[in-house]
Amino acid sequence: MHTESERRTRALFLSLPLTGHLNPALALIRELGARGEEVTCYATDPFAAAIRATRARYRRYKDAELADLRGLPGRTDELASFLIAATGRILDAHLDDFRTARPDYIVADSVAPWGPWLARILDVPLVTSISTMAMNRHVMRYAFTHGVRPASASRLLHKLRHMAGAWQRRRRLVGAYGVAGPGVMASVMGSSQLNIVYTSRYFQPCAESFDDRFQFVGPMTQRDETATVDWSRVGAGDLVYVSLGTLFNADTAFYRTCLDAFAGEPVQLLLSVGRNVSTGALGEPPANVTVCAEVPQLAVLQKARAFVTHGGMNSVSESLSFGVPMVVVPQMGEQATVGRRVEELGAGLYLAKQAVTPAALRTLVRRLLTEPEFRNQAGLVQQSFINAGGLALAANAILRFTRREPANASPLQR
Ligand code: UDP
Repeated sequence: MHTESERRTRALFLSLPLTGHLNPALALIRELGARGEEVTCYATDPFAAAIRATRARYRRYKDAELADLRGLPGRTDELASFLIAATGRILDAHLDDFRTARPDYIVADSVAPWGPWLARILDVPLVTSISTMAMNRHVMRYAFTHGVRPASASRLLHKLRHMAGAWQRRRRLVGAYGVAGPGVMASVMGSSQLNIVYTSRYFQPCAESFDDRFQFVGPMTQRDETATVDWSRVGAGDLVYVSLGTLFNADTAFYRTCLDAFAGEPVQLLLSVGRNVSTGALGEPPANVTVCAEVPQLAVLQKARAFVTHGGMNSVSESLSFGVPMVVVPQMGEQATVGRRVEELGAGLYLAKQAVTPAALRTLVRRLLTEPEFRNQAGLVQQSFINAGGLALAANAILRFTRREPANASPLQR
């Protein structure tokens, strides 16, 4: 038994229970445990095994909506409303558990605003885990100038109605818990005095607008993968991997277009269609195509020559970690910004969803396979990830910050 004075430092990790948000954090959770921290991670049952594999303690959010979370509202106003409502439910259901756990600090996903509320209630340091690009008004302007359109007037009205609901909910929380948690907008793009961002400054748009409270540590590609691919079914030829990620992946017509695009091409196509589409729905695939519900993406990217992706931040970062160029076909706004950044850095090509045809896909993938410049540019991003500092930088920054070293000590120092 440890006495109180020699007890291990307790970290409470409050996730947003979605694959794209948890995947990059798993390696960090493991590393904090390896550094001697006692880590408890709140999530939902589909993630229990992956969390336990990091040796952290798993705790289930007692919340029906989070338990069945299949994605987030795409629009900022609806997202704010959703997250503030979830914050109320989670604090109401768990505050006693959180108090009993007596964490020394909290690490919260940037889209889990109950983290900053709890940090203020318990008066403990807060670290933010950012699984997307870091956001601020410069990055929003970058998105607009790169073709991600602002809302129309009628949408703005709708937006204001939702914002009003979110403000009301937030006021209730201030009254109930006696602290002022983050505002409505800060609830959807959280940041704090220390933010761990899983990309490099080179990849991050407008990187110069982020000070060293933002640690760009590079992608985390060390997780255990449970899915498998039967490689004996995959023949010879350049491997082209296709995935729309885990949320926006029910577009059967898109997968059919891929089959049409690559049937008879001298490539091997590996299609991960997710759990929302049955692999049978695509019929008998051509001989050079393998269709899976899920693949070990990190292992696949080690072999792939090109990746057709929706532009989810994790998929893009993982691809670039292995120097694999991409065709990005975004399914929503944030992915469009990521796709534009890939294109801007020359590490791939952008293809709007409406412009997807077999010929367009085939032409762009052929370019990735035959023009070495794409691979070279992807290699530059890969190098920036290697140089970013990785887990060691992330864990060092967190330990320094949460031990409340002098405020002027930069978390950058390793
Ligand atoms: N992923 C995987 N196998 C698959 C499809 C996806 O392991 O067959 C993983 C992928 O490696 C990434 C995550 O699921 O870590 C998807 O996250 P991303 O941010 O790319 O997209 P989202 O699913 O959030 O839209």
